[in-house]
This record gives sequence, structure tokens and C-alpha cells, in this order.
Amino acid sequence: MTGRVSVQCCIAGGGPAGMMLGLLLARAGVNVLVLEKHADFLRDFRGDTIHPSTLEIIHELGLLEQLLALPHQKAPGINAQFGDLALTVVDFSTLPTRCGFIAFMPQWDFLNFLAEQGSRYPTFRVLMEAEVTDLVKLAGTIVGIRATTPKGPLEVRADLVVGADGRHSVVRDKAGLAVEELGAPMDVLWFGLSRRAKDPEIPVGRFDRGRIFIMLNRGDYWQCGFVISKGSRAQLEAQGLPAYRETVGRLAPFLTDRVDEIQSWEPIKLLTV
Ligand SMILES: Cc1cc2nc3c(=O)[nH]c(=O)nc-3n(C[C@H](O)[C@H](O)[C@H](O)COP(=O)(O)OP(=O)(O)OC[C@H]3O[C@@H](n4cnc5c(N)ncnc54)[C@H](O)[C@@H]3O)c2cc1C
Repeated sequence: MTGRVSVQCCIAGGGPAGMMLGLLLARAGVNVLVLEKHADFLRDFRGDTIHPSTLEIIHELGLLEQLLALPHQKAPGINAQFGDLALTVVDFSTLPTRCGFIAFMPQWDFLNFLAEQGSRYPTFRVLMEAEVTDLVKLAGTIVGIRATTPKGPLEVRADLVVGADGRHSVVRDKAGLAVEELGAPMDVLWFGLSRRAKDPEIPVGRFDRGRIFIMLNRGDYWQCGFVISKGSRAQLEAQGLPAYRETVGRLAPFLTDRVDEIQSWEPIKLLTV
């Protein structure tokens, strides 16, 4: 697809927001085109939790059974450890929803699922490797999007343009929309450690002075989230991996036997909250 095309709605970004909106609009008969800059949906540790409210929407769309046929883990609650005190702090099973649990599923599986469901509608199109670079404006009104694709430039004219292109949104920038900073004082480091037979089943949160450590059961590994104060990753890196391993082992003693799996900072992903 190159040159100029016209659709009713053009969505920049094929993340959860863009793909879900695309599916909902296409389902309602709106001619929709989603432009995604990447060639696939593969991302590490991106939004792997699918919450009961999202599952409820999927149920309302009649797609729950198909979604839950994909590999996933269920978390009916969350345990927390405050020093020596262990508590169940969240119990999803009592929610008035079809699914009383969080489903853990790689975000790419979820996005592929939405793409597949969308493809059932002739009004739904996703163009991968289409990077939005600018908006088309006529007399001060946004009437479309400009994108680059491997085959050449693309101009999409649309009645509605949606910016779902993430936190560094080009659409937001070009439209001159201001960001409202909520000022969350934390970042999260995400990384994986292997899971062993005797480990707990349900997600665990450990709270210690100035530290929060979350462990999500992903079957054969733990998806670990280490909450740090905003901008302090460089400081942690400067203290070195042995100190980091020691901290992780202190927060979750049952992981001490495998903290050596943390061999470099590279696979530790930073989530800027
Ligand atoms: C490391 C990490 C871990 C996370 N873990 C969790 C979690 O466990 N649970 C949870 O609920 N949330 C988690 N999140 C947050 C979650 O991933 C986001 O809330 C969610 O992905 C936001 O969805 P979105 O569609 O708004 O934006 P995004 O997911 O950012 O999607 C935006 C899409 O737009 C595309 N794009 C960007 N620029 C352009 C462009 N110019 N042209 C075309 N396409 C473009 C991007 O490639 C991307 O596919 C995590 C985030 C990170 C970074």
C-alpha cells in the first residue's frame, strides 16, 4: 500500500489501544486502517497482564473462549509479604465478572489475537512496517496521516485520526497536544528468573523499606518486577550486578539459589512509570 488511500478511521499504532479500537470500529462497520511501525508485535514483558475488566469486554465480544484457548496463566489473587507478615492482599475471585482472575499472556499473543479477530471483518486493515511521520492538515483541520513504508511513502486521508502510538506519540506531538504529567515517582525493572517445582503458585509481592518486588508466575519462569525510585537505574548499575543479585535474594529468599541467572543488565527492561 503506497500513494494515497482514504478510510473512515486511521489509527496510528498497533498496541493494545490501537488494535482493540480497530477491532471494535471494524466490528461496527467502520472502515479502519491501523498503521504499526514494527514488522511484528514481539516485545519483551509488555503489558502481559490481562485484567478481569478486559476479560469481561472480551467475553462481551463473544471471544473469551477463544482467547483463553491461548497459553496463559491465571492469578486468582496476589499475596504480599511485609517483613515476616504474609497476606493475601487481592482476591480477584470475588469480582462480579466472568473471570475472577488476571490472565498472564504475552502481549504479542494478545495483539496477534486481536489482529486475527479483526481480519474477520472486511472493514479492518492493519499495515505493518508503516511508520507515521506527520499529520495532514487542511485549513487547520487534521484530515489524515503521512507514513513511510518499505514500499514508499503513504498518505492516508481519514474522517478520524487516532493517535495510539504510545508514550512518544508522533500524532500527539504533531497535533500539538500537551502531556499531563502525573508524576509517578517510580520506575520498574522487569526481568525473568526460572521457576522451580516447589515455588509458590500465585503472584507474590514483597514489600521492604523503600523496596517493592513483584513476582508473576509465568509457568516455567518468574516475571520479576523490581520497583525503584525514578531515574535510579544508573545508580543501581553503578553498584554492580553482585549487589543487585544480593538485593533480589534478600527480597525473595527462595530465589537466592538462582539469582546467578542475572548475568547482565541488558535483559533487564526498564519500565518508566
Ligand atoms: C517493560 C514494560 C512492562 C510492562 N508491563 C505491564 C504489565 O505487566 N501489565 C500491564 O497492564 N501493563 C504493562 N506495561 C504497560 C503496557 O505495555 C502499556 O500500558 C500498553 O502497552 C499501552 O498500550 P498502548 O496501545 O497505549 O501503547 P503501546 O503498547 O506503546 O503501543 C503503541 C504502538 O504504536 C507503535 N508506534 C509507535 N510510534 C509509531 C509511529 N510513529 N508509527 C506507527 N506506529 C507507531 C508502537 O510500535 C506500538 O506497537 C508494561 C510496559 C513496559 C514498557
